[in-house]
Amino acid sequence: MTRIGGMGELFGTNGVRGIANEELTAEMALNLGRVIGTMRKGRIAVATDARISSQMLKCAVLAGITSVGSDAIDLAIAPTPSLQYYVKETNVSGGVIVTASHNPREYNGIKFVHSDGTEFTREMDEESERIYKSKEFRTARWNEVGQIFSGECNRLYIDGVKERVDVELIASRKFRVVVDCGNGAACFTSPQLLKELGCEVISINAHPDGSFPQRNPEPEEKNVGFLKEVVKQVSADLGVAHDGDADRATFVDEKGNFISEDVMLALMAKYYVKMNGGGKVVTPVSSSKCVENAVKEAGGEIVYTAVGSPVVVKVMKETNAVFGGEGNGGLIFPEFQLTRDGAMSAAKVLELMASEKKPISELVKDIPKYYTLKEKLPCKDKQKLLTGLKEEFPEANFTDGARVDYEDGWILIRPSGTEPIVRVFAEAKSPVRAEELLKNGMKSVEKILG
Ligand code: MG
Repeated sequence: MTRIGGMGELFGTNGVRGIANEELTAEMALNLGRVIGTMRKGRIAVATDARISSQMLKCAVLAGITSVGSDAIDLAIAPTPSLQYYVKETNVSGGVIVTASHNPREYNGIKFVHSDGTEFTREMDEESERIYKSKEFRTARWNEVGQIFSGECNRLYIDGVKERVDVELIASRKFRVVVDCGNGAACFTSPQLLKELGCEVISINAHPDGSFPQRNPEPEEKNVGFLKEVVKQVSADLGVAHDGDADRATFVDEKGNFISEDVMLALMAKYYVKMNGGGKVVTPVSSSKCVENAVKEAGGEIVYTAVGSPVVVKVMKETNAVFGGEGNGGLIFPEFQLTRDGAMSAAKVLELMASEKKPISELVKDIPKYYTLKEKLPCKDKQKLLTGLKEEFPEANFTDGARVDYEDGWILIRPSGTEPIVRVFAEAKSPVRAEELLKNGMKSVEKILG
């Protein structure tokens, strides 16, 4: 769980996040508004997810921005990628999204967006934090106070997605799709987009409700049982589920089976490498080997990064990658925008199904199955662990923790950035081998930490 004050810092890997009205208060939101208003003169776009505390925090952010002399555009409720696309496509100087993404009900968060539509980099967050702590806000006299305008970004976003997929091809297949908006920001985009792609759409959890009455906002398998059931009941071709701010999407096949996020990442990566006749695919070291296999098989190259979407985006930019993403349903389509994008994922999966003329369960079969195991161990001395790992596994990849690759699998030993724990991941083609690798990894940690 991302927490405010992790490692004594305000900004974590996803901006500022914490329990609303306790760890993330209206006063903090006001000052964060002042921070971005100080850093980005001109107009700043602000949108929120559908959480109970989002309106309160947004109003404070708007007050902060205008109090230092910048103008604000209130875009109401929108998915994070919709706000980001608006910032990229219009001449605003930055953006703010009020969201806690996939976190539980009580959380909220504030994340800043750069004028090109990408999330703030680590360096920009550090500068934000410096201004926040020193309170070196810009000042504005009474007649220089900014104004608040109303705007709308979801129409622009839906049109933007449609411009980058083969709408005619998708529409020709008359797919039946069930979309689970999870009562989040996706309610305002995904059902409408799918309808405009010529699909027969059955929406569930499609009214915004920050109490998340039906399921947890994280669209992982254990939370989408209802979606699996509905897909079977209505004989749909595909089921789609979003997280609270719809920058992620997970999928259910026509038989009602959940498709592992890593498998979908591999499938899409392969599609993009084929389409581009090669190219680089960027993904964190925690991603399944099935991604690397699929990319190499299609004639592409894999580039591993540390864990977290901002670093994936940064490396995609630097390497001019054709595709990127995380093994949690966060897929990044660089020809559209350099951010995780849930609705674009749904549209591209339909395009793939339409162009291959195969049901999604058949397409998934081409991706080899791996077994992944995860375990946590206490770790108070990260430096000692990393030094020990370098001695024990000199050949490992140390991009983020230590990833050790074997012929038939790999282990990743990665200390947490926010908690005194170390995570051990193991993956192999058989459950027995995965178990064996996991045990070896845990033994190494115990040996090093004593
Ligand atoms: Mg999210």
